[in-house]
Amino acid sequence: MMENNVGRSVKKEEARLCREDFDAGPSNLDCIEPGLWLGNLTAAMDLDVLESIKCSHILTVDSCPLPRNISLIPGIKTMFIQVTDLPKEDLLSHFQSAYTFIKDGQENGVVLVHCYFGVSRSSSIVIAYIMKKYELSFEEAFQRVKNKRKYVAPNAGFEAQLKLYETMKFTIDEKCFQYILFRLRIAAEKVRQVKILPTEYMNVIKADPSLITVRPDPLVYRCFKCRRIVASARNVIPHEVGRRLSWKRACIADEAAGSWVSDAGLIQTNSKQDEQQETSVQLKLCQQIYFVEPLAWMKNVTHCEQGRLNCPKCDYKLGSFSWIMGCQCPCGSKMAPAFYLIPSKVEWSNMVKNIQITL
Ligand SMILES: [Zn+2]
Ligand SMILES: [Zn+2]
Repeated sequence: MMENNVGRSVKKEEARLCREDFDAGPSNLDCIEPGLWLGNLTAAMDLDVLESIKCSHILTVDSCPLPRNISLIPGIKTMFIQVTDLPKEDLLSHFQSAYTFIKDGQENGVVLVHCYFGVSRSSSIVIAYIMKKYELSFEEAFQRVKNKRKYVAPNAGFEAQLKLYETMKFTIDEKCFQYILFRLRIAAEKVRQVKILPTEYMNVIKADPSLITVRPDPLVYRCFKCRRIVASARNVIPHEVGRRLSWKRACIADEAAGSWVSDAGLIQTNSKQDEQQETSVQLKLCQQIYFVEPLAWMKNVTHCEQGRLNCPKCDYKLGSFSWIMGCQCPCGSKMAPAFYLIPSKVEWSNMVKNIQITL
């Protein structure tokens, strides 16, 4: 179908062509299930179409909002998610609010979800909705929507985000390493564009582990020189020897759910298979550098593209970071963006053990 090809050329030519150079084509929409339609921009601006499907809710997933003559129609609720159809766009962060809006629309009226062509962005939002509603895998939900609308084709980045949504069981799991890597990647793209970390991405920077007083992680890394706590075990993003860390792939630590990394570089998994028997799985990880989440004591990470990570107390160099280029471990494993500590500059300690010794 033409529409798909046009969609692709829009992406490629985006730098030179405005969307006005193209036409979304005639009204084009399909009913995915009772009360839920998926279509193009022309359909969302076509009063006859809106009336014929008894539309009460319009969800726009596009770079521009609907014109006011549509968004101000009495009796029609609208929601606008501003995204372009680029694989690096963050659509995942909108899945929850879109779900709530579509659910409300389906329960109380009829929803039309649309983007420009009704191929990639709006389809991805509808697939995410179907996944959560019926607890379906990406593939199952994709097929279900595709059976109703043949043009459905999320771009590669959106497809990967939908698969991550499946991994997180249709919610946002802030502790999922794969999601942490995804958020860092999105934040790095912003740093590349505006040279600082914008306020709305500040939450990728985690609390200073030395200041956490409520249920602190007992397993910590300290500065080798002054012994200030600089990371907790939970801040370390484990990597396998030679394997690139990418948000598009499941992280080893997520696969072994409920795990933590020990000082020997092992992931300990305690999976309770039944009440009596606890099984422990150990996975060998690279120990040559520790990739970590950016932390609040790393003052320069919010306004520098790259730099050193010095101890906030004694200024001893502990590691480095790079938002854009990333860093490579001597084992060959790469991460971008990357924040890392050098194992010889930090000391592993188990505070639980220390307390027991003191007692
Ligand atoms: Zn220090
Ligand atoms: Zn390594």
